[in-house]
Amino acid sequence: MDLARQRCLLHPLREAAARCPSCRQFFCRECVTEHDGRVMCASCLRKLTANRGQAKSARNLPASTLAAARLAAALALLWFAFYLVGLFLVRAPSSFHDGTIWEEAGK
Ligand SMILES: [Zn+2]
Ligand SMILES: [Zn+2]
Repeated sequence: MDLARQRCLLHPLREAAARCPSCRQFFCRECVTEHDGRVMCASCLRKLTANRGQAKSARNLPASTLAAARLAAALALLWFAFYLVGLFLVRAPSSFHDGTIWEEAGK
Protein backbone atom coordinates (compact mmCIF):
# COMPACT_ATOMS: atom_id res chain seq x y z
CA MET A 1 0.00 0.00 0.00
CA ASP A 2 1.19 3.46 -0.84
CA LEU A 3 1.58 5.89 2.03
CA ALA A 4 0.33 8.83 -0.03
CA ARG A 5 -2.97 7.09 -0.71
CA GLN A 6 -3.54 6.38 2.94
CA ARG A 7 -5.68 8.67 5.04
CA CYS A 8 -5.33 9.66 8.64
CA LEU A 9 -7.21 7.39 10.98
CA LEU A 10 -8.62 10.38 12.86
CA HIS A 11 -8.95 12.74 9.91
CA PRO A 12 -10.32 10.82 6.88
CA LEU A 13 -9.97 13.88 4.68
CA ARG A 14 -6.28 14.32 5.33
CA GLU A 15 -3.52 12.37 3.71
CA ALA A 16 -1.41 10.22 5.97
CA ALA A 17 2.01 11.60 6.70
CA ALA A 18 3.35 8.83 8.84
CA ARG A 19 2.58 5.39 10.08
CA CYS A 20 2.64 4.65 13.75
CA PRO A 21 5.12 1.83 14.37
CA SER A 22 3.20 0.75 17.44
CA CYS A 23 -0.39 0.37 16.23
CA ARG A 24 0.43 0.24 12.49
CA GLN A 25 -2.19 2.87 11.70
CA PHE A 26 -1.72 5.81 9.36
CA PHE A 27 -1.88 9.33 10.70
CA CYS A 28 -1.56 12.85 9.39
CA ARG A 29 1.21 15.22 10.40
CA GLU A 30 -0.88 16.69 13.18
CA CYS A 31 -1.72 13.37 14.77
CA VAL A 32 1.79 12.02 15.08
CA THR A 33 4.37 13.13 17.59
CA GLU A 34 8.05 12.49 17.57
CA HIS A 35 9.14 10.73 20.72
CA ASP A 36 12.63 9.38 21.39
CA GLY A 37 13.44 9.70 17.69
CA ARG A 38 10.37 7.68 16.73
CA VAL A 39 7.16 8.97 15.23
CA MET A 40 4.14 7.79 17.16
CA CYS A 41 0.45 8.55 17.17
CA ALA A 42 -1.02 10.47 20.08
CA SER A 43 -2.87 7.51 21.59
CA CYS A 44 0.19 5.26 21.46
CA LEU A 45 2.31 8.01 22.95
CA ARG A 46 -0.22 8.40 25.73
CA LYS A 47 -0.17 4.65 26.33
CA LEU A 48 3.63 4.68 26.35
CA THR A 49 3.86 7.53 28.84
CA ALA A 50 1.09 5.98 30.95
CA ASN A 51 2.98 2.69 31.05
CA ARG A 52 6.15 4.49 31.99
CA GLY A 53 4.33 6.34 34.75
CA GLN A 54 2.97 3.05 36.07
CA ALA A 55 6.38 1.45 35.86
CA LYS A 56 7.86 4.39 37.69
CA SER A 57 5.30 4.31 40.49
CA ALA A 58 5.54 0.52 40.61
CA ARG A 59 9.29 0.83 40.90
CA ASN A 60 9.08 3.58 43.51
CA LEU A 61 6.53 1.85 45.69
CA PRO A 62 8.49 -1.34 46.46
CA ALA A 63 11.67 0.71 46.93
CA SER A 64 10.60 1.55 50.49
CA THR A 65 9.30 -1.97 51.08
CA LEU A 66 12.53 -3.31 49.61
CA ALA A 67 14.53 -1.24 52.08
CA ALA A 68 12.33 -2.53 54.90
CA ALA A 69 12.76 -6.08 53.62
CA ARG A 70 16.51 -5.60 53.47
CA LEU A 71 16.52 -4.30 57.05
CA ALA A 72 14.40 -7.25 58.16
CA ALA A 73 16.70 -9.63 56.29
CA ALA A 74 19.76 -8.03 57.89
CA LEU A 75 18.18 -8.35 61.35
CA ALA A 76 17.18 -11.94 60.62
CA LEU A 77 20.71 -12.69 59.43
CA LEU A 78 22.13 -11.08 62.57
CA TRP A 79 19.76 -13.08 64.73
CA PHE A 80 20.63 -16.24 62.80
CA ALA A 81 24.36 -15.55 63.30
CA PHE A 82 23.83 -15.20 67.06
CA TYR A 83 21.69 -18.34 67.00
CA LEU A 84 24.45 -20.27 65.22
CA VAL A 85 27.09 -19.03 67.66
CA GLY A 86 24.85 -20.02 70.57
CA LEU A 87 24.18 -23.41 68.99
CA PHE A 88 27.91 -23.92 68.45
CA LEU A 89 28.75 -22.98 72.03
CA VAL A 90 26.07 -25.31 73.37
CA ARG A 91 27.12 -28.22 71.18
CA ALA A 92 30.84 -27.64 71.54
CA PRO A 93 32.58 -30.10 73.81
CA SER A 94 33.36 -28.91 77.33
CA SER A 95 37.06 -29.11 76.52
CA PHE A 96 36.58 -26.19 74.13
CA HIS A 97 35.28 -24.06 76.99
CA ASP A 98 38.11 -24.70 79.44
CA GLY A 99 40.69 -24.41 76.68
CA THR A 100 42.13 -27.92 76.97
CA ILE A 101 41.36 -28.53 73.29
CA TRP A 102 44.05 -26.00 72.36
CA GLU A 103 46.60 -27.74 74.56
CA GLU A 104 45.80 -31.04 72.88
CA ALA A 105 46.20 -29.48 69.47
CA GLY A 106 49.53 -28.02 70.48
CA LYS A 107 51.02 -31.35 71.50
ZN1 LIG B 1 -0.19 4.29 17.32
ZN1 LIG C 1 -4.94 13.30 11.77
